[in-house]
Amino acid sequence: MKKDEKSKKLNNSNYSMETKLLLGKDFTAKWDFSHHVTAPISSSTTFRLDSVDRGARGFMQFGNIDDFLEDPIFIYDRLGEPNKDILEENLAFAEEGEAAVTFATGMGAISAIMGILTKSNDEILAHKTMYGCTISLFNNWYPRYNIKVNYVDLTIIENLSKNLTEKTKVIYFETPSNPNLDIIDIQEIRKVIDTENKKRTDENKIYIVIDNTFSTPYCQRPLNFGADFVVHSLTKGIGGFGTDMGGVVIGPKKFKGLLLLYRKDFGAVLSTKAAWAILTYGLPTLSLRQKKQIKTAQEIAEYLENHPKIEFVNYPGLKSYKHYEIAKKQMLDFEGIFAPGSLIYFVLKGKSPAESKENGSKFMDYIAENAYTLTLAVSLGHSRTLIEHPASMTHSVVPAEELESRAIDPGGVRLAVGLENAKDIIIDIKKSLEII
Ligand SMILES: *Cc1c(COP(=O)(O)O)cnc(C)c1O
Repeated sequence: MKKDEKSKKLNNSNYSMETKLLLGKDFTAKWDFSHHVTAPISSSTTFRLDSVDRGARGFMQFGNIDDFLEDPIFIYDRLGEPNKDILEENLAFAEEGEAAVTFATGMGAISAIMGILTKSNDEILAHKTMYGCTISLFNNWYPRYNIKVNYVDLTIIENLSKNLTEKTKVIYFETPSNPNLDIIDIQEIRKVIDTENKKRTDENKIYIVIDNTFSTPYCQRPLNFGADFVVHSLTKGIGGFGTDMGGVVIGPKKFKGLLLLYRKDFGAVLSTKAAWAILTYGLPTLSLRQKKQIKTAQEIAEYLENHPKIEFVNYPGLKSYKHYEIAKKQMLDFEGIFAPGSLIYFVLKGKSPAESKENGSKFMDYIAENAYTLTLAVSLGHSRTLIEHPASMTHSVVPAEELESRAIDPGGVRLAVGLENAKDIIIDIKKSLEII
């Protein structure tokens, strides 16, 4: 079968996304492995060039290749190699975006997209609650480049237009946000930015960047709701088994060359082995894992919500959750079914914030010692259920006096649901709450 006929077979088919992600593209111009069932691992840092001319063409092609039309010329792993390139095609497909560029980690991907969209004297407008290392990147490093970051509560849409300045170049947020699961209305943000962009020249347009790590493309595709770029930590739900780190930026094709150039020069390249694992295990099982994790998360959230020792539970799938309606609108699986994700955030009761924090610590320490189905560890989207204390772990970069303004509770608990039997997890949670 000819190349273009083969790619048509995938794009035109009526098969479900679940099947398409499992099988991947049945043809890729990146590597002819038509006699393998599983893609082989490319473990070559450098590539043989049969002429100086081929080398020259390879460098000319770098960053400019049209994925389907041209056979790639590989030169050196940091510029691109088959496993990463195939993974990128599949990730762009899953997010329903034009192009993807992978990175060594989620932070590598975030630094790259912010690196190409901003320069000295620009401003970023970000939601106040985000992953700790992203806050650290913005607060510890961007002042050196004279890039200012303003944090606002983007769940209140009026805050967006109120805080835009002439220098604003990027709107940056996570939805749901890490760790407290704030939901931000992507379409509403798009509307405000469209109005603002009409007044601006092309070089001055504002871009919307969304970290979609908590949802994975299974639960939400922000590009369809108006995001310009999506970033992911592949280390989490997409990788799925906690074996490899990775990151990706997905967005318009015209930025692919610049992202590749940034990756080449700053060097946060995804390892081929990680790319292969995500391609072989992560993406093909994404739908299966997410379906089960969502179902379990819903059961656990409902259990916690009705527990007398729990102050409140944030889970997008709970009708009582303040952002439920927006979540229902934008967190949809490939078939349009509500997919509220696998993360839960909750706070234990206490007479004071200090007591609530102490109760949370006691609960998590008991789990660390005694629970079989829950593991005290950072990270998420793992096959195992992981529990952690954001204020002292993933978000320890936030000073104690800033926790409240960033909507992180001193005693908040983040639960990342895995693949265990839901009843077993609930038994462990029940026992651990009994000691409080
Ligand atoms: C973990 C995480 C990151 C960073 O990803 P790494 O792969 O650890 O660099 C970024 N954003 C969110 C929301 C995360 O949970």
